Amino acid sequence: MEKLSQLYEGKAKKVFKTEDPELLIVSYKDDATAFNGLKKGTITGKGVINNKMSNRLMQRLEKAGVPTHFVEELNDRETLVKKVEIVPLEVIIRNIAAGSFSKNYGVPEGTEFLSPTIEFSYKNDELGDPLCNSYHAVALGLCTRDEIEIIKDYAFKVNDFLKSFWEECGVILVDFKIEFGRLSDGTIVLADEISPDTCRLWDSKTHEKLDKDRFRRDLGGVEDAYNEIMSRLEKNIESK
Ligand code: ADP
Ligand code: UDP
Repeated sequence: MEKLSQLYEGKAKKVFKTEDPELLIVSYKDDATAFNGLKKGTITGKGVINNKMSNRLMQRLEKAGVPTHFVEELNDRETLVKKVEIVPLEVIIRNIAAGSFSKNYGVPEGTEFLSPTIEFSYKNDELGDPLCNSYHAVALGLCTRDEIEIIKDYAFKVNDFLKSFWEECGVILVDFKIEFGRLSDGTIVLADEISPDTCRLWDSKTHEKLDKDRFRRDLGGVEDAYNEIMSRLEKNIESK
């Protein structure tokens, strides 16, 4: 399948049309941004890692009962996906307090929750992705009540799968962001990506950060962290 015209260039990926109106090609870049685009940089090799990691995880999520947009990995940076109409919500699941949660609620980073939390942000860069709840999402027409229930159900399934997958790699899944979309027949599927850009991943023993927080917080060793987390994922998959 060939790339046709570019549909969209985002902060981390480009999206291209294909000859099939139901399929798109996403191309992962090494560009990194944080704080709603205020901080910009490059993480060499990130695009390759995020592409492969997202694809490996989505293939396994399909088997675990979560439908995804994944169709076929075309090369190191490019993947064929099902075209969706994105539900403009960032769906965030947390197992451990960190980042904006710690700041907003005064809970020290690293505090384990009694049960996982879910929250939604309205995906709107101009407004800075404001927090919203499921009633806001339905009231604003971002999705239907049925859709939000399906999204919640899938999001917790994704968490169950990812938590145990990363545990096998000696990694704690602190939190993550996912996005969902509608296929042309209205079916809700997991879209976008699952990568160190969108998850907080800590080494189980040392709690060393193996994710984009190294870039956000200028901790150094960003590329090493992305390589380390990818090699742990590959070792785990090979051992199965
Ligand atoms: P951003 O838009 O936040 O800068 P990216 O650089 O990752 O993010 O751009 C990818 C864009 O493609 C995002 O807006 C995402 O919602 C969208 N997207 C992801 N998967 C699909 C898909 N299967 N179909 C249509 N759009 C998608
Ligand atoms: N996240 C993301 N994109 C965003 C905002 C958050 O992928 O635009 C991810 C982030 O990597 C983390 C989780 O969602 O794994 C929760 O992020 P948080 O709300 O704590 O925001 P942050 O501290 O990054 O501002």
